[in-house]
Amino acid sequence: MTEQEHEAISRAWSDLVATARRTVADGLVVGTSGNVSVRVPAADGDIVLVTPTGVHYDRLTAADAVGVRLDGRQVLGELTPTSELPMHLAIHRTTDAVAVVHTHAVHATAVSTLVDELPPIHYMTAALGGPVRVASYALYGTDELAANLLRALEDRTGALLRNHGTVTYGASLGQAFDRTAQLEWMCRLWLVARSVPGHTPTLLSEPQVREAAEKLRGYGRHR
Ligand code: 13P
Ligand code: ZN
Repeated sequence: MTEQEHEAISRAWSDLVATARRTVADGLVVGTSGNVSVRVPAADGDIVLVTPTGVHYDRLTAADAVGVRLDGRQVLGELTPTSELPMHLAIHRTTDAVAVVHTHAVHATAVSTLVDELPPIHYMTAALGGPVRVASYALYGTDELAANLLRALEDRTGALLRNHGTVTYGASLGQAFDRTAQLEWMCRLWLVARSVPGHTPTLLSEPQVREAAEKLRGYGRHR
């Protein structure tokens, strides 16, 4: 591995640990729940850095980097990779994701037990590619869960896992994290709106979501 690749891996690991800590600080997970991955290009094959299984994120140091190849072979670190490695690698193998974030955010997990798809209650639906689907339940850490997730993610950058949590991906750790935060916020919004007795929330039509998607492409650009 070249010096530059080593540096890129150290930087990515430090960003990954910061992102994992944020999931706890922002109340999206409790304890060692959830996991994060980021893909780092390397000449002899990309390396996917992942959080280790069952380790509190505040205990992770620069020396603890855990890295695997896209086939799951561990090439970096002593700690065992996250139990959700099948889910992370399935996304890295089949999409252009750079980073993947999995949480047990409470409102999103509640919604995963109520519907097959989060109703389009807000235009931020468009930021995730359309109404977010719920992947069928399967035991955590299994290939079956990874397969169910991939189906739910078609044309989307986020999905809910039934009775389990959230998964989002993006072009950076920041984008993947923000998508999780937006998804949790939208789930909370829908739960609040639908719990008003005698009222049913209005929803956006498909053209309204499409129109928002087009406008969001230019969102946040400065001259
Ligand atoms: P890990 O500690 O193995 O990453 O598992 C946490 C989790 O959320 C499993 O779904
Ligand atoms: Zn989980």
